Amino acid sequence: MSLPSKINTSIRMSVAKRKLKSRNIGLQDGNPLEQWGLSKIKTDIKNNKELKRSFGHKELNRDDIKEYKLFKFRELLAYVLKSSPYYQDLYAGMNIDPSDIRTYEDLEKLPLTEQEGLAEKPYHFLCVSRKDIAREFTSSGTTNMLKRMAYTQGELLEIVDSVISGLKMAGMETKDDTLQIMYPTITATWDPGLVLSKACMLAGFNSVIEDSLDVHEQIKTMRESGTTFIIGTSSFLYELSKQARGFVEPGELGIRRIICSSEPLTEAMRKEIESVWGCKTLRQWGMTELGLANAIECEHQDGFHLNNPDFLVEVIDPKTGKILPPGEKGELVVTTLRRKCMPLIRYRTRDITSVIDEPCSCGACVDQRISGIERMEL
Ligand SMILES: [Zn+2]
Repeated sequence: MSLPSKINTSIRMSVAKRKLKSRNIGLQDGNPLEQWGLSKIKTDIKNNKELKRSFGHKELNRDDIKEYKLFKFRELLAYVLKSSPYYQDLYAGMNIDPSDIRTYEDLEKLPLTEQEGLAEKPYHFLCVSRKDIAREFTSSGTTNMLKRMAYTQGELLEIVDSVISGLKMAGMETKDDTLQIMYPTITATWDPGLVLSKACMLAGFNSVIEDSLDVHEQIKTMRESGTTFIIGTSSFLYELSKQARGFVEPGELGIRRIICSSEPLTEAMRKEIESVWGCKTLRQWGMTELGLANAIECEHQDGFHLNNPDFLVEVIDPKTGKILPPGEKGELVVTTLRRKCMPLIRYRTRDITSVIDEPCSCGACVDQRISGIERMEL
């Protein structure tokens, strides 16, 4: 790298670091992902008169967060009515007034966003000028429909910020922690390995990308890099663990946590992986359309903690479209509350889950969580 580009990179890194809210949050503050979310919400409250009037003087509780999300939803609805050709079309003739959305039941007044719409006409969702796009990603996801998503620089930084908070919640703490990233590098144009290694660099953790399918190569890298955390797809980590059984002793390599992503992980698979490496295994969930890293389990393994301020989640009956109460299984529907580039309102994920609306044993008490994700039968 030449000197001017080195200087540019280091300036960009230090600007990026200053903007990261996750940087100053540690395990001693409570659940890092929840604390990160709360610090974003508090900044919003400080900067908005209406929010300040409602919440500026008090400690935020679970109901306040729900009210805050409805406020952000109204704000986003007004924004897409003004800027998104897709939503202008979808809502044409419906006389939609954002101020009518006062309760969660009111959300049913708005039609759902189908994945086909995004696959067919991605740029109809675009709300900013093309010159503001920093990166575009294509993902087939679980439904074999190619969906293209664009993100601004600020949004990419927010994604990295949320990834750091998730890694901290998983237990990464210091520069002595090394994350071994096991995604195959050919997965998609959206490269989760690069996002994760950037997040580790900004947070001050080590990372190593090892995409070999060979178990001996993976273990060699673990030994050489002093790996303490592992992340990869559920099926790959399951296969790797089965192959590793017999020539690594549980706990021998000092692996502290394993994070399984991209595919559902059954409890039987989790048990197998945990018994081989001798450490807890956490599930992570995300979709490219929603920004990749959207939810992750804490060590209590009791549902996924969401990037709370980023999403308003609903679980609906996929046949009737009715919103289901917490605890009832249905299709997960997500609104990306903070996106400016290609926001999605009431987006059907085609994943089945239920909302957990009670505190977690880890101490997170304002967060909503979602239970284990299953694929919807199509
Ligand atoms: Zn928890």
